[in-house]
Amino acid sequence: MCVYVVGNITVDETWAIADIPAKGSSVHGNKISQDIGGKGANQAILLSRCGINTTLIAAIGNDLNGRWIYEKIHHEPLHHAPEYLFPCNSDTSLIFNCADGDNAIITTTTAADSLSIEIITRALVRAVPGDILLLQGNFSFEKTRDLLLLGKQRGMTTVFNPSPVRDGFSQLWPWVDIAVLNQPEAEKLQPTGVSNLVITQGARGAMLINASQQQFCPATPALAVDTTGAGDTFLAVMLASALLRKTEIDALSLTHASLAAAITVSRPGTCSAFPDVAELKTLLSHRG
Ligand code: ATP
Repeated sequence: MCVYVVGNITVDETWAIADIPAKGSSVHGNKISQDIGGKGANQAILLSRCGINTTLIAAIGNDLNGRWIYEKIHHEPLHHAPEYLFPCNSDTSLIFNCADGDNAIITTTTAADSLSIEIITRALVRAVPGDILLLQGNFSFEKTRDLLLLGKQRGMTTVFNPSPVRDGFSQLWPWVDIAVLNQPEAEKLQPTGVSNLVITQGARGAMLINASQQQFCPATPALAVDTTGAGDTFLAVMLASALLRKTEIDALSLTHASLAAAITVSRPGTCSAFPDVAELKTLLSHRG
């Protein structure tokens, strides 16, 4: 069984600035960190660190950032396709942390937009019925819909994390088996008919709703310093926990996910905040 994560991969640059610059102004700032990010990459990295056979299908551009990402991603225990660099800039998220604790983020999708359905279909050539197709919200509505349809035609289990939300995403539920959303996304998109629905509620916890149960799992208390990637950690570890135990998503999957997310929020950065292979092995051995 293999999980195919089709999504984006970015360089996350975090800058400290006094305040959001006014139009026409020029301000000083400090670059605090550079990290791998992008929801597709985040989720694939965590799944693979849990011991799941994971393929990340994401486009990396042919520039300095792209070569940096390429080098870093090949240290993770996942497969990456397509293996070449795309003739465009890599995707970047510029995260501006203001002195008052507020932030502003600018993200590009040039590389993600270059990943056509034809390229993705070729990268999915070895996918078989029972494999998992995991998508986030970084592609257009049309591309996301076509990928979900492709996954269902191939007999794959489809997992959708519709973040960031785009117009039309609420029409996609008929092709989704497992949906993971935060509370505002769930209120906006009203998921219906999915066999497993998980709604995360930040520091409160998360709710699992399926045919056999409606279960709330409180968050694991943590001294939160940076919540970037909490949702991605939660989703990936929850899915990995169920797949490793060959069960449906259950209360124990949510417990494992909440332990992992508590580690992520307690450290700064994106990928560098994620639990490592040893930490994940330990927390996945908890029996509830
Ligand atoms: P993000 O977009 O910031 O990655 P999200 O909006 O997708 O996150 P959240 O609902 O904020 O998802 O968080 C997902 C899970 O992470 C929660 O269900 C909880 O288990 C954990 N979590 C989030 N914030 C905290 C916190 N401050 N302390 C402990 N756990 C947290």
